[in-house]
Amino acid sequence: MFEDSTSLTNILLIVSLSVNVITLLIVLRLRSNVIKKEEPVPAPNRAKVNPIKPAVDVGVVFCRNCGNQYESTEGLCPSCGTPR
Ligand SMILES: [Zn+2]
Repeated sequence: MFEDSTSLTNILLIVSLSVNVITLLIVLRLRSNVIKKEEPVPAPNRAKVNPIKPAVDVGVVFCRNCGNQYESTEGLCPSCGTPR
């Protein structure tokens, strides 16, 4: 009985020790990851940034045929159907 409790204590000690070691390893890994993240990384995604859409085709135009005023997004005069 005495021996059993001693071995149980030993096992508990070993387990807690190994848990400590594992925790230490995890902390060290996280630390190294943080250090790695601080290194300058090339950004290939920079070209993906969309430039601001040119607002050229938005506005009001007048029909060449009938002089009707309509939005340039229409493409055709809604009155007579003449393309811009
Ligand atoms: Zn028209």
